[in-house]
Formats: sequence, structure tokens, C-alpha cells
Amino acid sequence: MTRGLYIGRFQPYHDGHQQVVEDIVTEVDELIIAIGSADRSHTQRDPFTAGERIMMITKSVADIDDDVVTYVVPIEDINRNSVWVSHLESMSPRFEVAYSNNPLVIQLFEESGTTVRQSPMFDRDVLKGSKIRKKMAADDGWRSLLPQPVVDTIEEIDGIERIQRVGDTDNVPLE
Ligand code: NAD
Repeated sequence: MTRGLYIGRFQPYHDGHQQVVEDIVTEVDELIIAIGSADRSHTQRDPFTAGERIMMITKSVADIDDDVVTYVVPIEDINRNSVWVSHLESMSPRFEVAYSNNPLVIQLFEESGTTVRQSPMFDRDVLKGSKIRKKMAADDGWRSLLPQPVVDTIEEIDGIERIQRVGDTDNVPLE
């Protein structure tokens, strides 16, 4: 029995993340999707709350593989990288293998003795959180890059308006 953990900020959860999950479920019996920076929201870099990301991911993975139990858990950041893996483990079901391509995350897991697997990057020129958030701010061409339940969630919470507002400034030119 192997339980794997896939960690990300998922701002937002996009088609590249979904393809990674589709690959991971062929290798594990159970999957934990850990939502990092769970305490962050309502900024240009981190527009969505942990709860909103839980909705996006839970609905997107629901039909991938009925045989693989999937847990979605929020993990707040802590201001000390050296103990982050212990912090994450204290909030998550146990796991034997972690999945990430993030160099800092890989370094911290390896130092703690956790097996880390990397996945191929899918269409990284387009499927990249920062690029997708820019498209969302312009409300142009973002829907086709996200699983449909993510689009539905963003529409339900008026996410485009939020991204546009938090990117605005109240600096009005002085007369
Ligand atoms: P992310 O949402 O950017 O990406 C999640 C994973 O998906 C990464 O492994 C990334 O490489 C991969 N990915 C992205 N686009 C892809 C694509 N097109 N195809 C295939 N894979 C793709 O999240 P992240 O930045 O890796 O998340 C790490 C989280 O861990 C953050 O929330 C970070 O704050 C947290 N963290 C916290 C601490 C701390 O609190 N001290 C320390 C380390 C990490």
C-alpha cells in the first residue's frame, strides 16, 4: 500500500497539475493533495483561499480514478524552512513518497529522508500559474487552461473581479 503526497500552491489548479495527478494515480494506492500557502489569499500572487482551492481540486479529481482515495489538505506556510517537512507531516495523513518539481521542496524532503519523485512538465510555456493569473486579470483565454470544475468555482466566487481588484491601486495622480 503506497500513499503519495503532491504539494503545490495551486493558484489556480490548472491542466498541468491535473495531468500530473493523472500520472500519480497510476503509481499509488492513495493520494494526498496538499495545498501549500493555505493561509494566503486575496493577493495577485495568491488570489484564492484554501477553501476555494479545496473546491477546485476536489471536484477536478473526483472522476480520475475511483479506486484511488484522494485527500485534499490545506497546509499553512511557516517562517522556518528547516522544520517545514515536520510541520506538513503533522497536518497530513502519512505518506511514503512526495511528488514535486519545486527545487526548495525537493531539497527539504530529501534532507528529511523522504523519497521524492519528479514529474514531466506539461506545456509549461502556457500551463504556468503566473501566466494564467495574467490572463485571468485580462479576462482573456484562461478558461481553456483549467479543468472545468476550476472554471466553475472561479465563476461562482467572482474570481476574475477579485483578481482585477487586488491588482488595482488606489494611487491617483496628484493634481
Ligand atoms: P505550484 O502550484 O506552482 O506547483 C505545484 C507543482 O506542480 C510543482 O511541483 C510544479 O513544478 C508543478 N507544475 C506546475 N506547472 C506544471 C506543469 N505545467 N506541468 C507539470 N507540473 C507542473 O506550487 P509550488 O510553488 O511548487 O508549491 C509549493 C508549496 O510549498 C508553496 O505553497 C510553498 O509556500 C510551500 N512551502 C512552504 C515552505 C514554508 O512554509 N517554509 C517551505 C517550502 C515550501
